[in-house]
Amino acid sequence: MQTKRKHKTNDYEIEKITTQELFTLHCKTRRLEMGMIELTSTCNLRCLHCYLGHMTHIASSKKNEITLKEIQKYVDDFADHGCYKIILTGGEPLTRKDFLKIYDYAYTKDFLIFLFTNATLFDSKIASFLKDRKPFLIEPPVYGMTKDTYETVTRVPGSYKKFWDGIHHIKDQSLPLGLKFIVLQQNKHELFDFIRFCKEKNIPYRVDPFIHPRLNKDRQPYAYRLPPGEAAQLLYQCLGSEKLVNNRTQVFSHCSAGLVNAYISSTGFLRACPSLLELNKKSATNLRKHTFDEARRSLSTRPSFPVEKKCKTCTAFIYCNQCAGKPLLATGNKKAALEYQCRFALAVEKIKKDDIKVF
Ligand code: SF4
Ligand code: SF4
Repeated sequence: MQTKRKHKTNDYEIEKITTQELFTLHCKTRRLEMGMIELTSTCNLRCLHCYLGHMTHIASSKKNEITLKEIQKYVDDFADHGCYKIILTGGEPLTRKDFLKIYDYAYTKDFLIFLFTNATLFDSKIASFLKDRKPFLIEPPVYGMTKDTYETVTRVPGSYKKFWDGIHHIKDQSLPLGLKFIVLQQNKHELFDFIRFCKEKNIPYRVDPFIHPRLNKDRQPYAYRLPPGEAAQLLYQCLGSEKLVNNRTQVFSHCSAGLVNAYISSTGFLRACPSLLELNKKSATNLRKHTFDEARRSLSTRPSFPVEKKCKTCTAFIYCNQCAGKPLLATGNKKAALEYQCRFALAVEKIKKDDIKVF
């Protein structure tokens, strides 16, 4: 079976192979599909809910950051292990002075590039550089549709204007743009405006109500999320139930993290995903001391979704975004289902049933 790229931009083509077949193939061969590199954990914003909030503004974060040379090596490692997609993320990746060199290197290696940036540092120079080296997707988060709301979340005066300037630079060069709305108590009243805007401008969008603890296990970000019932009601009203269905086909399934995806932290550690911190202190996941192969072999066994008795007969699992990494952060136990996700899923199912009854 062959995969083929016709051009270097959005037209990656997978010939005669379904996604499921590709997944099975990767499982058998241990070939990766997508690599993610956290270029930095620092950021120019100070978002209330940020899962890196304890690291974004401390000097040591910058000091221990992976170098350009190391990143180029990791890009090569991902390519050698079969990846054809790469996510460049942060923190805020554009805070790196060598960002364009990093981007260019990944581009010349023929990756489909997903750029996760908050867009506030996206200027005309970056936009023109990317014009001839198009990423697959640039996906900035939207924290509010008004200045007050946006800056209440980011806690940086002037960031709202910079955000929209960045979006205009992206649009001016016709770069592929998607937007994601992170739903918080502080901005929930602007979700409808966000969706209306995306529809009017024909911009693909998604909505994310799931907030996670910081990587140091600080649960403060939970204070900003909506109660699960309210989140379910709001998202159901805005998106309908179809868009809330996750792509899982069975209750108990394995997560693809570490199997077809892998993540490298800004300090050079290989992880299955950003949330799955390595528990085994003796593991060889430090890429500054070990080869990529050694690190990959050393990753803890393949993560599986929570296996709880109540889930066995549950029909709401299609709305339930459980995973192995988030419970580990929140509870220290990767087998425990997160209560928030569970209550959200059950609420969506109930709203849908009640809705049908009315008609
Ligand atoms: S833009 Fe992202 S990385 Fe920066 S503070 Fe906000 S959530 Fe954190
Ligand atoms: S909604 Fe609750 S009971 Fe159902 S699968 Fe998810 S965690 Fe399990």
